[in-house]
Amino acid sequence: MGRIFLDHLGGTRLFCCASCETVLTNRSELISTRFTGATGRAFLFKKVVNLNYSDVQDRVMLTGRHMVRDVSCKNCDAKLGWIYEFATEESQRYKEGRVILERALVMETDGFEDHASLDSPN
Ligand SMILES: [Zn+2]
Repeated sequence: MGRIFLDHLGGTRLFCCASCETVLTNRSELISTRFTGATGRAFLFKKVVNLNYSDVQDRVMLTGRHMVRDVSCKNCDAKLGWIYEFATEESQRYKEGRVILERALVMETDGFEDHASLDSPN
């Protein structure tokens, strides 16, 4: 397990909350940079940690109807994006369980030297 964890973060860029710098995810979880959020460009990730989730909302997007939850930082409660719970269009099902982070609301940093300090509960 430890070796896998280090492979994930070693030499990989991290995405953090822009307000409080809590680590949210890293580049190896990045699926796509071609999404658009309320503030502009947004990224789709396989997995993001340290989030709070809103109630499920029914939202109609350019790509069809989706059930989503807004996500915010668990530490400072800043809004970060949303998670796809369910997509009605077959072609959009790959997004289910995936998380959108808006680029303007996160920052990208280099990994820390001390990997032990990044032992987050994921
Ligand atoms: Zn935060």
